[in-house]
Amino acid sequence: MSLKFDLRPSAAPRSDAEREAILADPGFGTHFTDHMAVATWTAQDGWGDSAVVPYGPFQVDPATAVLHYAQEIFEGMKAYRHADGSVWLFRPFKNAERFNASARRMALPELAEESFVESIEALVEADESWVPAGGETSLYLRPFMFASEAFLGVRSAQRVQYCVIASPAGSYFSGGVRPVSIWLSREYTRAAPGGTGAAKCGGNYAASLVAQAEAARHGCSQVLFTDAVERRWVDELGGMNVYFVTDRDELVTPELGTILEGVTRDAIIALAPELGLTPVERRVSLQEILDGLRSGAVREIFACGTAAVITPIGELKDVEGTYQVGDGQAGQITSRLRQALLDLQYGRTPDTHGWMHRI
Ligand code: PMP
Repeated sequence: MSLKFDLRPSAAPRSDAEREAILADPGFGTHFTDHMAVATWTAQDGWGDSAVVPYGPFQVDPATAVLHYAQEIFEGMKAYRHADGSVWLFRPFKNAERFNASARRMALPELAEESFVESIEALVEADESWVPAGGETSLYLRPFMFASEAFLGVRSAQRVQYCVIASPAGSYFSGGVRPVSIWLSREYTRAAPGGTGAAKCGGNYAASLVAQAEAARHGCSQVLFTDAVERRWVDELGGMNVYFVTDRDELVTPELGTILEGVTRDAIIALAPELGLTPVERRVSLQEILDGLRSGAVREIFACGTAAVITPIGELKDVEGTYQVGDGQAGQITSRLRQALLDLQYGRTPDTHGWMHRI
């Protein structure tokens, strides 16, 4: 049975003027809407207490399991406002499916896909006025679940908190799309076979932070990780998947296994043939890419994910040097794919895939 998320309205929502001031320059991840969706799970009674309630802090006992053993998962998705004012989600059931895959890996309870989508719909409906309009703005949605039981033993929690919060997001690239520099991490890896790389759990991101800091010291905005065993195969970036465009019009992306199955990655595989491109999922060695950049066999490289959509990569760097991608500017195919995806998400082209979900 699907959970119901009835609204218990905030007694102190922000005024229209306060909200408009935030929406005029929302940035990313710093402002939150007036409400949040919640539900709790106990081993004894299953899911319950579901509602949309005023946004506010949780009371957290110092012994709460998540603070000690990081039993936690999350998702990331967006609500888009179309030109006619309507508000839409992009493939929310894909996020629901991935949330449950993450839950299984982290020994957390699954949440029925319908309940997951219902919680998001209910929150976006309650805070519809927080969905920005214009440009590439959106309302970023963050569903998450954590072990809320106060108990210090190492075992899966008997009490779990589910929550969805929402944060208005401005255009990722305010001054037009700019290619980014990517750091090739030689020291750190993010996912081992049998590990948690394919799950969206907080620990993966905590483990990536020192590598991210190393990247920043070298003027790079993200890290490209290789596999943990041979340090030879390309996995993904800290928070995005990666694609290589070849001189044979192939779109090559690392196969699934230890990487996160991105919703954007999956959409690109489906969109590629419509743009005359052949999607290929396979193992990709870092050496093949560096050789391909020299020979011209690799023409473009881009990162993809909900936050940055499709982001051109202008150069790769490591301790030995810098490897420029093409002429260092946004490639033609990268730009076309980016436009095709944005046109779909913002309702400017017909949704032939049935991906858009109206609120
Ligand atoms: N890989 C990682 C590690 C990520 O955190 C994300 C962002 N969720 C992605 C890939 C891209 O996934 P999606 O396209 O679903 O946003």
